[in-house]
Formats: sequence, C-alpha cells, structure tokens
Amino acid sequence: MKDDTTYDAIVIGSGITGGWAAKELTEKGLTTLVLEAGRSISPEEDYVEHVPPWEMKFRGMRDRQKQLVDQPIQSTNYACDEWSSKFFINDKENPYTTDPDKPFRWIRGRQVGGRSITWGRQSYRWSDLDFEANLRDGIAIDWPIRYADIAPWYDHVEEFAGISGEALGLPQLPDSKFLPPMELNCAETVVRDAVARHFPGERILTIGRVAVLTQDHRGRAACHYCGPCERGCITRSYFNSVNATLPAAEKTGRMTLRPYSVVHSLSFDARTRRASGVRVIDAKTRATQEFRAKVIFLCASALESVRILLNSSTTEFPSGLANSSGELGHNLMDHVKGGGARAIIPGNEDRMVVGRRPNGIYVPRFRNVKTKQAGFLRGYGFQGGGSRQGWERGVAQTGFGPEFKKAVSQPGPWRFTFSGFGECLPNHRNYIEIDKEKVDAWGIPVLKIHCVFGENERALQKDMSIAAAEMLAAAGAQGIQPFIEVDPPGFSIHEMGTARMGRDPKTSVLNAYNQAHDVKNLFITDGGAMVSSSCVNPSLTYMALTARACDYAVQQLKKGEV
Ligand SMILES: Cc1cc2nc3c(=O)[nH]c(=O)nc-3n(C[C@H](O)[C@H](O)[C@H](O)COP(=O)(O)OP(=O)(O)OC[C@H]3O[C@@H](n4cnc5c(N)ncnc54)[C@H](O)[C@@H]3O)c2cc1C
Ligand code: SF4
Repeated sequence: MKDDTTYDAIVIGSGITGGWAAKELTEKGLTTLVLEAGRSISPEEDYVEHVPPWEMKFRGMRDRQKQLVDQPIQSTNYACDEWSSKFFINDKENPYTTDPDKPFRWIRGRQVGGRSITWGRQSYRWSDLDFEANLRDGIAIDWPIRYADIAPWYDHVEEFAGISGEALGLPQLPDSKFLPPMELNCAETVVRDAVARHFPGERILTIGRVAVLTQDHRGRAACHYCGPCERGCITRSYFNSVNATLPAAEKTGRMTLRPYSVVHSLSFDARTRRASGVRVIDAKTRATQEFRAKVIFLCASALESVRILLNSSTTEFPSGLANSSGELGHNLMDHVKGGGARAIIPGNEDRMVVGRRPNGIYVPRFRNVKTKQAGFLRGYGFQGGGSRQGWERGVAQTGFGPEFKKAVSQPGPWRFTFSGFGECLPNHRNYIEIDKEKVDAWGIPVLKIHCVFGENERALQKDMSIAAAEMLAAAGAQGIQPFIEVDPPGFSIHEMGTARMGRDPKTSVLNAYNQAHDVKNLFITDGGAMVSSSCVNPSLTYMALTARACDYAVQQLKKGEV
C-alpha cells in the first residue's frame, strides 16, 4: 500500500539522533514523518524510576529464566535490570550473527526514544585532537570537518539539552555551555587533590559532564538525585527524546510520529538519482506500506541504518544503496574499556553520601596529548567514582549472629574505581554485511558482524590499569586492585563508523554534511558517520552533527538542490 502524502522529510528512528532530526526539521518548517520500529512510550505509565524493589515481581532480582531466553545479550548490560529490561530489545526477535571466535555484544533499544531512555548521559565535546587524528597518524581517511565547523552546533544542542559540568579550559576536551556542576563526594575530593599534586599539568579529575539538569531548564525540572535514570525520569530532568526533542517537534504541529513502523529498505529512482520511498512493515499486522518524502534522514543507529541500506541494493548499487565507494558497512568501531583499578580510600569514616547522584567522575585524556607516548596511538579517559560501602558488602564478610548483624548495619569504607574508555582505531576489516541465511521476526535479513579489537586497543587497556593504579597510590589508597576485563566489542555501546564521512566519494559514503555522496536526498546522522572514534562518549557529537545536517538539508531544499 502507498501513502499518497509526500512529506517534506522522513526521519527513520526516534532515538537520540532521530529526536534531534524531528525537532530541527519541523522547527524549520518541514512536515516530517518519524518512522519508529518500536512501541510508543508514555512517561506516566512506562517510567518506573520511583518503583521500590518490593513492588517488583522478582523484588529487583530479575526474571532470570525469561531473560536467558529473550534477552541473553541485553541482560549482560548493567542497565538492563528488572525495571528497565522493557527498554531493551528482545534478542530472539532481533537476531544477528558473528563468527564464533569474534563475538560482538550489540545492545539496543526498540521503542520511541530508542536508547536515549537508558543512556548514561555522559556528554563531552570532541576536539581537533580527534578531528585531526587520522590525518596526523596516516590512518584511514581524514575527517572532512574540524572543531570550528561543529562548535556552534555543540552550543546549539547543549543550550537545549542542558549539560552540567565544570569548565577546565582544556584544548583536548573543550568546555560545553554548562549548567552548574554536580559536587564531588569526599573520597573523590581526596583523589582529585592527590592527582593534581602528583601529576600537575598532566592529569585532572573532574565531575562528569552529564545531560542531567542541575537547575530548572526550559520547562524541565532540576534532578532530585533519585538515581536509576535508566528506568525513565518523570520530572524530565535528564535529556532523552521523549522528555525533550520529540515534545518540541510535536509542538510545531508538523510532526507525524508513527510507532510500530519497521523500515525494511529504501527505494531508489535511477532517473532522478534520489531515494524515492521508504518501505515499511507494520510491526503488529505485518502489512507493508511505502512512504515518500523529499528528503530522508536515517537515524536508526550506526548498524541499523546501514542494515537498511544494505537491504536496499539496486542494479546500480548491488552492494547496498549509496555504496559506490565500497565503504558502506566497513570501519566499525567501538570504544575499548575494561582497564582500570579499584581500592579503598582511607579516612572520612564520619561522612556519608546524601542522595543518589546520577553521575561519576571524569579524567580527561592525558596520553598522546602534550607528549608522544611509546607503545600506542591515541588515548583514553577515565570514568568511575567514589562511594561508601553499605550493608550489601555483607555477602563478602565473614561472621555470624548478632555480631555479623551489627557489623553489616554499619557502613563500610570508602571505595574508589577508575574505569577507562579508550579510542578504537578505524579498520576496514571490521565490518558488517547481510547474513543471507537469517531473518528477524519481520522477515528482514539480519546483519553478520565482523569486529575484533587490535594491538593498539589492547595496549591502551593495559596502560589504563597501570595509570589508574598510579593515581590511587598517589591518593594513599589501600588494597589497590588493577584490572583488565576483556569484553567483546559492542559492549561500550558506542558502535560507529559504518557509513563514514569524507571529502572523496571514492573512499567515503557521506560528505561533510552527512549527505550521501551518491544519493543527494539521503542523510545519515547517527554514529555511522564517524571517521574516527575519539575516546569520549559520542552521543553529544551525534546530536550536533544531526542539527548541523538538518540546517544544511533545509538550505539545500530551499535552493532546489536536494
Ligand atoms: C546503557 C547505555 C548507556 C549509554 N551511555 C552513554 C553515555 O553515557 N554517553 C553517550 O554518549 N552514549 C551513551 N550510550 C550510547 C547512546 O545511547 C547511543 O550513542 C545513542 O542512543 C545513539 O543514538 P541513535 O539515534 O543513533 O540510536 P538509538 O538511540 O539507538 O535510536 C535508534 C532508533 O531507531 C529505531 N530503529 C532501528 N531500526 C529501525 C528500523 N528498521 N525502522 C524504524 N526504526 C528503527 C530504534 O527502535 C530506535 O528507537 C549508552 C547506551 C546505553 C544502552
Ligand atoms: S536521578 Fe535525576 S535525572 Fe535521574 S531519574 Fe532521578 S531525577 Fe531523573
């Protein structure tokens, strides 16, 4: 069935990037259809951050048998608990394949809002250390943009989303337009001061930069520190599509949001050389339908957007729509984590934490910034933080009867953990393709993912654990435990790079404005567009690139060039 309406724009996906595309395009006057594969979300019914464990069927311990069947991959993620598992996909319905020796842990959300509901909200600008990295190292291709191109768009998205944090004036981690920072706790202050004393001019510990409001902002209330943000937020205090961008798009009266609309593929008009339609399967009835628009924004996430293009091959583009370069699906990256250290921070036994601050600490990248580091390229930052141990440490305590009871009723020592997030190098051999043998619950061919971390990522992990232990030792910590926990790629949930930008259509899929070189009315503004991975969390950069691409697309539409 064909819908006869021709929209100005179609946005595929309503997660972090789709929400931004919907807001920007509608506010600039475009009638916009948002196609979302998952169900709709009603905050009043779906958000459960204030539901106590005793009101949960399994008292917060999860239905482990069901999760083993329906969410064996998703349930390995820290945020997928008994409350929030409904915001993660059903792995049985949404399969993918890998080679047995190359596991990839793909963590996804399929509902209005996508993963913006469960994300950790850590928000950092990238810098020219990142945008010039490939050129400097002679790796992959150069970014077609520099920090100056995106800086105004960081301002634009930050002013709307609300990012709290501390300004530091560091060139490698430019400051955002900040709301007031959250406070460090006493253990974190001890470590911060020791790091400043022992590593002057090199390492700095600051509070995380986070898309959580520390004061009322644009009709959304300041955070009240209840804690489990991955279950939703009825006061709209953290940024997600449902809380912020989609209501703004709705307000224009120009958005049509269509949940349960699983995009199968795009059609291509070889005469006009434009994407001419979006083929959709209704998730509930399985009926098929085609929608049309002047311009199409793919915002289904780095792997899903490319899956749609790989499933849209034509005689001219036999290996996927907009793939004349042969790079579509290649250069898959994810941050490497799992290196760090933990310890006890003695002292402050008379102090307790008040409230549940939804944020940790951050140590900006210090390797390969001012001086060249032997052994690896690029660098990493640390997340983590300090906390006072509570009664739950009792499981690791010995003892029996009243004495044991008394001991666990007292708080334990202050503990501190540093956890690294490192840059992953782009590599043509890390790629996705269509697995011709397997389809998902809607009959759509699934992805086969080929991705492994290389030598450089392993060297970064090792250095993370050494540097973390050094900082804890400088803070007089006790029982320092350096660790290297080897997780497969995917687990940092920062997958990106599969439809990279570039200046040359022969080596890249998108131009400097996220527009497909081959198909002028097609834009990809999710993580697919990234040319390198930086070491900082990427979603703020996806938002800024999306807003920038929307501005460009509307200008091009007005000029009749799309
Ligand atoms: C637990 C967790 C913690 C995270 N922490 C951070 C963090 O601290 N900082 C950070 O920067 N990032 C973080 N991330 C990553 C962040 O969530 C993603 O980078 C971001 O959501 C990507 O935005 P997106 O719009 O590309 O994709 P998503 O937000 O995943 O949205 C994609 C949307 O597209 C829809 N879709 C997919 N396929 C189709 C189809 N065929 N048809 C129609 N619709 C489709 C999906 O249902 C979904 O709604 C975290 C993620 C998770 C899960
Ligand atoms: S901690 Fe703050 S942002 Fe998180 S759910 Fe509670 S009020 Fe919302």
